[in-house]
Amino acid sequence: MRLIFIGPPGAGKGTQAARIVERFEIPHISTGDMLRAAVKAGTPLGKLADIAMKAGQLVTDDLMIGLVQERIGQDDAKKGFLLDGFPRTVPQADALQTALASHNVALDAVLVLEVQDDLIVDRITGRRTDPETGAIYHMTFNPPPADVAGRVTQRKDDTEEACRARLESYHRQTSPLVPFYEGLGLLKRVDGVGKPDDVTARIQTALG
Ligand code: ADP
Ligand code: ADP
Repeated sequence: MRLIFIGPPGAGKGTQAARIVERFEIPHISTGDMLRAAVKAGTPLGKLADIAMKAGQLVTDDLMIGLVQERIGQDDAKKGFLLDGFPRTVPQADALQTALASHNVALDAVLVLEVQDDLIVDRITGRRTDPETGAIYHMTFNPPPADVAGRVTQRKDDTEEACRARLESYHRQTSPLVPFYEGLGLLKRVDGVGKPDDVTARIQTALG
């Protein structure tokens, strides 16, 4: 199964991806997580990405395409993958089509998780992550249990200001991927509003 998750920041891609990869036993390839690991490790890629990420801007297509080409060529991705956060621009989507064709494989579906802008800022500013397990929480909607609450962290780009920049970049640069994948007959729209379990059920229905 080769899947892509598209959706505005805070739509619930990471939350839902964790469930889907467990069900299909495929790797979860989150470019945001890969970049945050590079920033933390202080690699050359991390240094280039850090400034753009803090400002809520996209990292350049060249860097992202190289990173993902390398990742989907690894052994564990041969049986499939869930791409979360990539592609985010039409040039990235074109490069992915070329890379998949060179491996003689194709996408099964592209899921768009739809959440309207006025719900996004609350989701983003309340987001917290457990650095030990990677589990995603929300201070109001899904608070961390008492034994985890003391160690949760907040992403540097989860401020209201960076969130608004990311939303603007989503609409301008990423939303053109919706007609792109619709034209390829791969698009599945999923309503991302409601309980996470209900969203998971909608995704399962969409995947058939
Ligand atoms: P994304 O990966 O799309 O940026 P996340 O999965 O990290 O989104 O979710 C963003 C925030 O919203 C997190 O704090 C998460 O706990 C919360 N969240 C996820 N799904 C829902 C939902 N269905 N309803 C309310 N809050 C949610
Ligand atoms: P969110 O979960 O809020 O949608 P991500 O964790 O996917 O955000 O990404 C965080 C940041 O990493 C983005 O704001 C952007 O700066 C950078 N990034 C991640 N994936 C890409 C990509 N495919 N192209 C360009 N920049 C990216």
